[in-house]
Amino acid sequence: MNVIKKIENHKTLDLINKANKITLNGYGNKITLERAIFISWWCDKGDCAFCYMSSQKSKIKDPKKARRNVNSILAEAELVKRIGWNIEFISGGYDSFSTEEIRNISQKIYEISGKPVWLNVGITKDLEKYGEEIIGVTGAIEAANPVLHDKICPSKSLEDIIEMLELADDLGFKKAITIILGLGETSEDLNYLFNLINDLGIQRIIFYSLNPHRDTIYENSPQPASLYYAGTVAATRIKFPQLEIITGTWIDNLANIGPLLLAGANGITKFPLFKMFGTNYGRRVEEEVKWAGRELRGTFTDYDQLKMGKSPMPNLEPFIKRYIDKCLK
Ligand code: SF4
Repeated sequence: MNVIKKIENHKTLDLINKANKITLNGYGNKITLERAIFISWWCDKGDCAFCYMSSQKSKIKDPKKARRNVNSILAEAELVKRIGWNIEFISGGYDSFSTEEIRNISQKIYEISGKPVWLNVGITKDLEKYGEEIIGVTGAIEAANPVLHDKICPSKSLEDIIEMLELADDLGFKKAITIILGLGETSEDLNYLFNLINDLGIQRIIFYSLNPHRDTIYENSPQPASLYYAGTVAATRIKFPQLEIITGTWIDNLANIGPLLLAGANGITKFPLFKMFGTNYGRRVEEEVKWAGRELRGTFTDYDQLKMGKSPMPNLEPFIKRYIDKCLK
């Protein structure tokens, strides 16, 4: 029985069992905490059916004001480094920062973290303007079904995303994609996803589960079932033993973490970091990892690490302090 049939026939435990062995053999038991750093709350496209930013577009009168202060972005990068997390990517809506500005921010983040950053800043033909500060480029595929994709993301065509990832490959960048489960896809769509990963030589995939935002067509839709999510991740791990898999769970779904780790996730994401740090929610994440038999890189609870050291950029200190104070509340 192939992996898709196994999902459909509820053989999820078989899939997870196999995926767990593959993951432990290939990667060991270390799990990363990942933080997407958003640079703005504005997106000029603003028409993806599930997206929070699409619900905000009409409310933002001056897009420039929806840009984050760059010092605040960098302070976040500094704190992420201190607590041993990875920067999942830097992300922002369309037309909020220019390529030069994004490059500048990425260079500073590289300086802070010592690691080149992943980009997730929409479809761009400007990739040749980036350099050693970038490790890879993320294509926000969202739905791995061309018909569904065009319906829910009418302004970002799959062809253009694929073209960008091919260009990224030509330029020597790594390639990642994001997929959201719960948008109306079926398990059969995994055929398309697996072909895409194969054809484009994707090295990293980030799965998210639908977060039904108010004022979007999904506001009354359920999040995907935990076993469907875990089965999908396990099937992907079995098909692609080398692929880096990151999985996102929202604060209301922390019980998903254990099954997702057993299913083959290498990293976990989508947490409101400063709201959760040092709280029972942060402790719960650490417990989920422990009871999956994994070891967490970084911390969700250690204030000493958060407060440790000084930024090499003194102008960030007030911003760093503000974030730490938020965690200590
Ligand atoms: S392009 Fe990205 S940020 Fe803009 S509406 Fe779509 S999902 Fe949201």
